[in-house]
Amino acid sequence: MLADIRYWENKAKEGGYAIPHFNVWNAEMLMGVIDAAEEAKAPIIISFGTGFVGNTSFEDFSHMMVSMAKKATVPVITHWDHGRSMEIVQNAYNHGMNSVMRDASACDFEENIRLTKEVVDYFHPLGIAVEAELGHVGNETVYEEALASYQYTDPSQAAEFVERTGCDSLAVAIGNQHGVYTSEPKLNFEVIEKVRDAVSVPLVLHGASGISDEDIRKAISLGISKINIHTELCQAAMEAVVANQNEPFLQLERTVRAAVKQRALEKIRLFGTDRKAE
Ligand SMILES: [Zn+2]
Repeated sequence: MLADIRYWENKAKEGGYAIPHFNVWNAEMLMGVIDAAEEAKAPIIISFGTGFVGNTSFEDFSHMMVSMAKKATVPVITHWDHGRSMEIVQNAYNHGMNSVMRDASACDFEENIRLTKEVVDYFHPLGIAVEAELGHVGNETVYEEALASYQYTDPSQAAEFVERTGCDSLAVAIGNQHGVYTSEPKLNFEVIEKVRDAVSVPLVLHGASGISDEDIRKAISLGISKINIHTELCQAAMEAVVANQNEPFLQLERTVRAAVKQRALEKIRLFGTDRKAE
């Protein structure tokens, strides 16, 4: 069933677990994560973003996302990740996404507030929640180099940012990065604690693929209520392709779907979300 992200993020926040956000951009990934959610009886977020339009036509794939979300026996949120403009998130909404992220984190503080608030003001009357980002979680690069100029979330700005934008959840930059980590992730947990104490909205961790189970558990215990996974789903799919490359394509596609399901199940259990939709 289609679900409201605000309800589940806040329930997770109170319950001390985190809602899994899975980026999906083909049928195997979409079906795999829904299979996992059904088996674990877990609420999940399925999400698309601009980075995937070179692979999949969102305007067509969105129909499959919405249809599968509605048919699922567990709560499913349809989300647009890292919206870089008003037009992009409007297009996402017009194609059935019931939650959006407006990411203006590459802009300075005032501009981030202005651009985020513009989207919040547009979407709140429509009943749609908006995630924002303060600090900046960068894209895949050499991790140690990225850390040298890393833009951590400034906890002293968090309360003002949330109040002035009206955002419903906040993505934090604590040493996390998108894509594959080229060395062990070094997370600044103090930032989570300080931001958690400064704001009442749920906090979001991006770039969580490759972060150790121990660090994920700690991040959740300190106040992270939504966790984004993409790279590890791709890795699970790739490992399945390589290990089963002699299978007929028709069978290989099922093997990939099962591998994505398995990885998603591991994350659902790690995040403490299993059986939360019973
Ligand atoms: Zn992200």
